[in-house]
Amino acid sequence: MKVPFIDLHKQHQTIKPQIDRAINDVMATCDFIGGRAVYDFEKAFAKYCGASNCIGVGSGTDALYLSLRALGIGPGDEVITAANSFIATSETITHTGANVVFVDCDPNTFAMDVETTKMALTDKTKAILPVHLFGHPADMPALKSLADAHGVYLLEDAAQAHGAQIHGKSVGTFGHAGCFSFYPGKILGACGDAGAIITNDDKLASTIRMIANHGRTSKYDHAVEGVNSRLDSLQAAVLNVKLKHLDAWVEKRRNVARLYDTQLNGTGLTLPAESPSARHVYHLYVIRVPHERERLQAKLTEKDIASGIHYPTPLPILHAYRYLGHRSEDFPVATRLSKQILSLPIYPELTEEMVRYVCDTIKSVI
Ligand SMILES: *Cc1c(COP(=O)(O)O)cnc(C)c1O
Repeated sequence: MKVPFIDLHKQHQTIKPQIDRAINDVMATCDFIGGRAVYDFEKAFAKYCGASNCIGVGSGTDALYLSLRALGIGPGDEVITAANSFIATSETITHTGANVVFVDCDPNTFAMDVETTKMALTDKTKAILPVHLFGHPADMPALKSLADAHGVYLLEDAAQAHGAQIHGKSVGTFGHAGCFSFYPGKILGACGDAGAIITNDDKLASTIRMIANHGRTSKYDHAVEGVNSRLDSLQAAVLNVKLKHLDAWVEKRRNVARLYDTQLNGTGLTLPAESPSARHVYHLYVIRVPHERERLQAKLTEKDIASGIHYPTPLPILHAYRYLGHRSEDFPVATRLSKQILSLPIYPELTEEMVRYVCDTIKSVI
């Protein structure tokens, strides 16, 4: 048996006729920028999340950059974010001209630690940017209290967390804006790059839309220099089809996670936690291997089981951030986790037989 890390072919086969029809509809109208497909998707995704506005943009990275810029964040400002994430979270802060301030994470949920965040606040702090890493929501009620008490913005990197909730409320709706990625491997993925921002602030929504479209206020009138980052109409058409399946796909991911939980219980591995108030959507199923992770991963590879490490190096320790002068010891939790984490295959189409094969292989090694 062969278990890939993700299988986009399998999912595509289940919805191919609808995707083909949606793409053909765009081709028939030749509305390649904007048009019905983008309008419909923005409406539908806002409704899905329970937000009043959705702005489709070019990627999840752009969603972060545009939100930060639209809030007026720039040179001299500080934005606090998680040490354990993908570099898109922090590079977009730097791209606005602001300084990125990294904080350590909670060992159980992998989310940015609230106490450490509190200690990182200064009079230069303009925003806090938590990441709903692997599909588990960060502690938004606590971070919101903190942000409100200090009068700073709260943004959410929800690139890995479509459909995740806290007490039934969708991620992306706790802060001033929520940023999503529709990169093909994400929980809701397009057939190329795409992203979106949700916000309940109408004025912020129109500022984001303006900056994403060259700072345009009318055809040849530009309030500021913006960027070109619009949601592609073909991608929007694909997303319209897929959004209808999102809840069912998330349920399937959760079922796969429950099966892993049962099968790996008692092995001494630390399994992903789910806070009582949270709905984890399992973009990734990340276990912690206390000893000899490399040996386990090599054995999985030998048995044709793909796995991953998200991420092998905490962001502040990357070469790109050497100028900040951080050391691993400054982020003890993120550093320890980075040496123990292992992501197992998880996607809606993963069969019970495959999960059992993965778990049996793991048990034979440890
Ligand atoms: C994927 C991802 C992004 C960036 O999204 P793109 O659409 O690839 O630009 C940002 N943050 C996190 C946590 C991600 O996983």
